[in-house]
Amino acid sequence: MTNLLNFNQQQLADYFVGIGEKPFRAKQLMRWVYQQGTLDLAQMTDIAKVLREKLANEASFDLPDVQKELISDDGTRKWLIGANNQKDGTSSSVETVFIPEEDRGTLCISSQVGCALECTFCSTGRQGFNRNLTVSEIIGQLWIANQSLHQADGYDMLAPTDRIISNVVMMGMGEPLANYDHVVSAMQIMLDDYAYGLSRRRVTLSTSGLVPQMDRLKEDCPVALAVSLHAPNDALRDEIVPINKKYPIKELMAACNRYLVKAPRDFVTFEYVMLDGVNDTVAHAHQLLEVVKSVNCKFNLIPFNPFPNSGYGTSTPNHIRVFRDILIHAGYVVTVRKTRGEDIDAACGQLAGKVLDKTNRSVKYIPIEAG
Ligand code: SAH
Ligand code: SF4
Repeated sequence: MTNLLNFNQQQLADYFVGIGEKPFRAKQLMRWVYQQGTLDLAQMTDIAKVLREKLANEASFDLPDVQKELISDDGTRKWLIGANNQKDGTSSSVETVFIPEEDRGTLCISSQVGCALECTFCSTGRQGFNRNLTVSEIIGQLWIANQSLHQADGYDMLAPTDRIISNVVMMGMGEPLANYDHVVSAMQIMLDDYAYGLSRRRVTLSTSGLVPQMDRLKEDCPVALAVSLHAPNDALRDEIVPINKKYPIKELMAACNRYLVKAPRDFVTFEYVMLDGVNDTVAHAHQLLEVVKSVNCKFNLIPFNPFPNSGYGTSTPNHIRVFRDILIHAGYVVTVRKTRGEDIDAACGQLAGKVLDKTNRSVKYIPIEAG
């Protein structure tokens, strides 16, 4: 059986041509699946019956399982999505989070089971790496959340104008650029007018700084870009974001500027986790201004979200304010991320899921409780 949810429009058209059908069937099918939210071939009435019978025999729409759905007092929702490993029968899970705000609804999507990049302050990174998510598991998170939010809202049909999810951020578990092909195909479905039709400005990919893939992304699927900077010099960044040893800050800044030539927005957002006494002093703020000065950027300061045995503390509100004001006085737009969904552990960097480490390196750490 071919899982049709693994294909973007081009791949789906190729599939139809491959079974002797017209390529426009891809557009028809995508409208049913992503806009109407139906996976039932019987309902896809503009597709010839014989073709539907053929599809029933050789194709499928396999979504990942929803293991749990949690709703916070502040309206934030979290889904625990099953991500089993069919090769060895082990079971893991990832998390998807919906954050409603006045003027938008943002869905935070995971791209990998675990993460191999070992950022020291990140609970996903501490759990090790299991595997990449497939396209259907990535786009399936949007499908599932969209369906569930519309049902909760009393809608029968998913008219594209009724967008509850207006923005997507690839900021859940995993490093999206380390699962490049699957993430790009899934984002193409998000942007596709026959599917979710989101604007490139409303889809944001966050990366810890994989320079070669940033260069590819600007050609293949330029969306808004956030970069996890977190430190204002190589010595400290080498320690807390170890991929920096491979792609140091200067190279990363140059890659940001190359990206901006093709980007849908004219700035990069630098994310900066506020770690008490580690990267949050006045001197760090001034150093930060120096290293980013060649790049058109905004800052998003993220108060560190603690998790058991992390070894880090959150910067005090006063330190965060002083740090923020230095950047603001230098003329930058700075946001300080509010923690949402605390009662369901939906905050950034707390997305723990359940990862069975394939690299066996997380034994170095004391295991972290899931969720
Ligand atoms: N792998 C990608 C995207 C996922 S994480 C990346 O690193 O950019 C989304 C953001 O949350 C990143 O900026 C990440 O560094 C940050 N983050 C990770 N753990 C955190 C924690 N415990 N507290 C606050 N932010 C955290
Ligand atoms: Fe991976 Fe991002 Fe966590 Fe680093 S911060 S370990 S890149 S998920």
